[in-house]
Amino acid sequence: MQQYLNEIYEEIKQTHLTGKVASYIPELQHVDPSKFGMFITDVQGNQWHIGDHLDLFSIQSISKAMTAALVFSIMDEALWLRVGKEPSGSSFNSLVQLEYEKGVPRNPLINAGAIVMADLLIDLLNDPVPDYLNFVRKLANDGSIEFDLNVFESEKKTGFRNIALANFMKSFGNIHNDVDDVLDLYFKTCSIRMSCKQLADAFLLFTNHGFHKNTGEQILTVSQTKRLNALMQTCGFYDEAGDFTYKVGLPGKSGVGGGIVAILPNKYSVAVWSPVLNAKGNSEAGMKALELLTTLSGHSIF
Ligand code: GLU
Repeated sequence: MQQYLNEIYEEIKQTHLTGKVASYIPELQHVDPSKFGMFITDVQGNQWHIGDHLDLFSIQSISKAMTAALVFSIMDEALWLRVGKEPSGSSFNSLVQLEYEKGVPRNPLINAGAIVMADLLIDLLNDPVPDYLNFVRKLANDGSIEFDLNVFESEKKTGFRNIALANFMKSFGNIHNDVDDVLDLYFKTCSIRMSCKQLADAFLLFTNHGFHKNTGEQILTVSQTKRLNALMQTCGFYDEAGDFTYKVGLPGKSGVGGGIVAILPNKYSVAVWSPVLNAKGNSEAGMKALELLTTLSGHSIF
């Protein structure tokens, strides 16, 4: 694995990236575009890494996979009364489909779907903000993980599209709580800062059939884990899910902070970070690095 990471690093360093760091959330644009880190952890506890793998960055939509896991672990199949499980084929923050589909988002891994998940968490958790953070800390086995309040405030001030999505869904009756409370929780989940190491550790849950690697606790059932992995495969990259599946062949989730986490069931979890995004809002070098990983190793889910 380390040999593959070394090769990937060399190749990425020589690649001219054509995309841009996300700037629609103003606070995200300050990040150094040359950053690149990658971390792999396997179910036996072996670890391999390269580059800026301990740097903290904004996980953004990667949180949507953890949010879906938390809601699914509590509500099981009743979750699907509020959100679909089909790929959207449109951008992460699209409003168009919601009109046709009467305020029910296509899946929990797009913005509208994660906003509905935040609405559900307000009903399901005693103290949603700290309870959510503790869930993420538990998955990563790391109590130091925090929200980035600058990113949170920045998105809260400028997240007009998400505000529109939440109000639009409320008009269809698919948001039950106060829109401001729902968006506060949604923006908080996106603002969490984590490293490639912490993300790879957290996503071992999906590699490991829903069992927490360190405590052995079953957080998701085997069936729920299969289903969430299937959703990540088909919906984890918005309108680039097909391309990611074609090139990489692993379930995963990206975020506009430039992170991507992917898993090979029973084997490993890998997180990569490079803040320069392609036109679809996915990390340009991150996609390439993961494509190289499954090509060099010859292992994917297919
Ligand atoms: N917080 C971001 C938003 O709602 C997340 C988008 C993403 O990472 O894809 O626009």
